[in-house]
Amino acid sequence: MAFTEPAPTPLALLLLGHGADPDTERGVECPGDLPPASDPALVERARAAKEALGDRLFILGHHYQRDEVIQFADTTGDSFKLSQQAAAHPEAEYIVFCGVHFMAESADILTAEHQKVVLPDMAAGCSMADMAQIDQVREAWSVFEAAGIAEAVVPITYMNSSADIKAFVGRHDGTVCTSSNAKVSMEWAFDRGEKVFFLPDQHLGRNTAVRDLGLSLDDCVLWDPHKPHGGLTDEQLRAAKVILWRGHCSVHGRFTEASIRDVRERVPGVTVIVHPECQYEVVQNADLVGSTEYIIKAISEAPAGSAFAVGTELNLVRRLAIEHPDKTVVFLDRDVCFCSTMNRIDLPHLVWALENLVAGNVVQQITVDEDTAHWARVALDRMLALPGVGAKD
Ligand code: SF4
Repeated sequence: MAFTEPAPTPLALLLLGHGADPDTERGVECPGDLPPASDPALVERARAAKEALGDRLFILGHHYQRDEVIQFADTTGDSFKLSQQAAAHPEAEYIVFCGVHFMAESADILTAEHQKVVLPDMAAGCSMADMAQIDQVREAWSVFEAAGIAEAVVPITYMNSSADIKAFVGRHDGTVCTSSNAKVSMEWAFDRGEKVFFLPDQHLGRNTAVRDLGLSLDDCVLWDPHKPHGGLTDEQLRAAKVILWRGHCSVHGRFTEASIRDVRERVPGVTVIVHPECQYEVVQNADLVGSTEYIIKAISEAPAGSAFAVGTELNLVRRLAIEHPDKTVVFLDRDVCFCSTMNRIDLPHLVWALENLVAGNVVQQITVDEDTAHWARVALDRMLALPGVGAKD
């Protein structure tokens, strides 16, 4: 098939919420339905480009991606598993990450020098990761120093954070965590210090501290980067065991206790299974709580006839429902909600990136500078060395 020079797209430079390109920016709103599928003719173009690149290409597809993209993934998984998979395929010169920006950064950090990581749309960010900026984190740390507590604080950042925040944590003797090893990370941190500074997801931090470690809600304080001194007094900082960053996931944060009450009435005998990025009250009222990998496993291994209401991203829930016709799998909330930034990676962007690679142009490459990558890797390696973590996520 002849290669057609793709027209440059302005979309890659649009920041979320700035400007509009209704023809291509499908899925950045949450209007109550999934965005329509792209032109089916693009399927053939994606196939042809993938075939032309052969083993030089490895496509990673995050669980929350839409079907039209996931069908081209060489492997699927959550962000950490995908980065490890990229590192395990050194023959692939191009790693195309169908996920969001922080995931592609992690892939660049973990892969070899000769591998180039491509994010088909630079505007595919993560609202949670964007809630913690490095300057804000440095400012918080200087307040801890002035309050005389910095020495006692061990920072932990969730995988869903930018590379420079992972590097900050690496430099300050902290670790990265995923949703499946947050508990062991926090235990590790409390073995080394008196306080934990947990970034950027307040819900995962609170759920881990209170549900898993048995701390009280009063042991946790919330650092608001938009308020002077984080909105906290020195006394509050000194008394706290866990300082939570005021960040959250705009998808998982939407589920409420009312969603759970409603689904229990609608689906008798339903098992409510949610991700720990959900609010504390939601997690407390759910039957099962765990990472996306945990949710997939729990539903796959359940006996036929089981019923689940799932509190995680809609694309994944839809796929689980299709893959398990012998079980009832419903979305926890009545209102449709997908990850709008993840949905920016659609077939037009994937085809554009792949066809450019075929033509020898590396577009939308994600690179992390050497110093940042070094310290971020230090924090990631600390996570991998945690007891029982190893290569699993
Ligand atoms: S689902 Fe939430 S945490 Fe995951 S990429 Fe989307 S906004 Fe970020």
